[in-house]
Amino acid sequence: MEHDLVLEGRVVVPAGPWDAEVGVTDGIIEEIGHGLKGSRRIRAEGCLIFPGFIDIHVHLREPGWERKEDFRTGTMAAIHGGVTTLADMPNNPTPATTVEALALKARLAEAKALVGVVFYGGVAADDPERLVKLSGRVSAYKLYMSETTGAEAFPAGGLPRVFRLVARTGKPLSIHCEDQAIIDEASRAVDMSGPDAYCDLRSPRSEAEAVAGVVRGLRGERGLTANVCHASLGETLSLVEGARREGLRLSCEATLHHAYFSRKAMLDNPLLRTNPPLRGEEDREALVHGVRDEKVSFLVTDHAPHLLEEKEEGGLAGVPGLDDYSHVATWLMKSEGVHPTTIAKVASANPARYLRLGDRGEVAPGKRADFTVIDLHASETVKNDDVRSRAGWSPYDGREFPGRARWVIYGGDVLMDDFEFVR
Ligand SMILES: [Zn+2]
Repeated sequence: MEHDLVLEGRVVVPAGPWDAEVGVTDGIIEEIGHGLKGSRRIRAEGCLIFPGFIDIHVHLREPGWERKEDFRTGTMAAIHGGVTTLADMPNNPTPATTVEALALKARLAEAKALVGVVFYGGVAADDPERLVKLSGRVSAYKLYMSETTGAEAFPAGGLPRVFRLVARTGKPLSIHCEDQAIIDEASRAVDMSGPDAYCDLRSPRSEAEAVAGVVRGLRGERGLTANVCHASLGETLSLVEGARREGLRLSCEATLHHAYFSRKAMLDNPLLRTNPPLRGEEDREALVHGVRDEKVSFLVTDHAPHLLEEKEEGGLAGVPGLDDYSHVATWLMKSEGVHPTTIAKVASANPARYLRLGDRGEVAPGKRADFTVIDLHASETVKNDDVRSRAGWSPYDGREFPGRARWVIYGGDVLMDDFEFVR
């Protein structure tokens, strides 16, 4: 038989990279082997063929903050970075804590998104019971333990009730772990005049205490699957590992920026203000080793687009990341010793499992034909002008990376072809 598309190169399957051909028909992977025929053939020489990358932590800002990003520009940035499915967070001006708000988001994404988009449901502090009604519309839930852009801190005492409610839905819960009381206490004591003082305001202790609280909560609700968002400390990884040894269903994610930058980068670039903030070099290394040793389950962007003037004048926290997913993934492989099969897990297989997207996450017969093809030898210096996010800037501006996404394929449709966007 002749396939619609044959993709030829080094395919990253769970057993390890394998020189083979992948035959795609009607948007589905039909077979993997040799001597396949197709009406179109892509020869991906010197490249690695990954299952399409899935980013479980993204803020696309629509509806309400379209000046920062919308489903079209955000998914353009995703294609640029090799991300074929993403999960959108609930902290919009009208938070995604109601059926109506989620229905509107789904309509907007349906009309404008160029890759797969699924949603997180938010937890309303004044009416947590409402989250149960959202379960048919969301892939997971998100809870904020501290204040951040567009979200209030959920009172720590309410955790057990939320855990019980989310466990009832069978969906996982992602938690922003920073203890608001510890941050409030620091805000009265920390001298905020230094360029990196923000890192002390939201201290390592505020994260570690919050994670410890989550672990205690899970002991009382062992059926819940929970995930620590944007782990920034070696200590967080140890706490999560300890919880898993107890049999608790807890994982953690690492962002591109916490893996790449430490707090000393804040001295030159105040745009790197994020929640949680960048940490010391030891913690950054612990995160990279955590990815390498698979103590970290997900590599995420926490794509938080703000315009440059909002960052410069308003001091808002958060950085864009989707445009640079494949840059940092390639850096992890080539400079930091992360194996390609590990990248396939943290960037695709584990996210698919977490979001219950059984149709994707692996290059295997029967799965959707979503691929991120990385050229390991196409080094590039990041420039703000190349960014597709409406934010219009990259935290990596001026930095050189060893490779990047060359083909991006979603459901058999080639969205990026030999580095060029397909319209
Ligand atoms: Zn976030």
